[in-house]
Amino acid sequence: MRKILFKSLFSPPLTEPAPEPDADIAELAAELNAAAQVRLGRSLSIREVDAGSCNGCELEIHALGNAFYDLERFGLRFVASPRHADVLLVTGPVTHNMREALERTYDATPAPKWVIAAGDCAHDCGIFAGSYACSGGVSSVIPVDLHIPGCPPTPAALLKGLLALMTKEK
Ligand code: SF4
Repeated sequence: MRKILFKSLFSPPLTEPAPEPDADIAELAAELNAAAQVRLGRSLSIREVDAGSCNGCELEIHALGNAFYDLERFGLRFVASPRHADVLLVTGPVTHNMREALERTYDATPAPKWVIAAGDCAHDCGIFAGSYACSGGVSSVIPVDLHIPGCPPTPAALLKGLLALMTKEK
């Protein structure tokens, strides 16, 4: 026991060192938060809606909140309810089972509201096109303001899309 204790006290950490912060991402996120402040007078709140995705898009979206991207330091927040959201970030083809839930989520989001279809599936069902389970792309169910292409879109592409949305005329 004592041997293990001494070994653990004097061994170096087994974890990898933290990566260097990405200056381009930090600049993009700061720009986005500034645009949201101009547009809304506060930080941006995002509600993510998985309408039937394979979860590849979710992995990239979740990465925005990890220790590397850490978008909360710029004021961007993912919220648990559409009632607190400015933006609905929708992924996946809309399945028949999720169609009504997506419509109700859209109705529950207070105006002004924006909808982003994130990923190729959200645009036109992508690799799931023709599936018996799919209703169609997001725009076939609710109005879409912006599409971010990619399978899946990278965190940087998601940030650029959000920035384009905040700076475009409605
Ligand atoms: S766009 Fe690609 S990663 Fe995203 S839900 Fe479709 S298949 Fe999955």
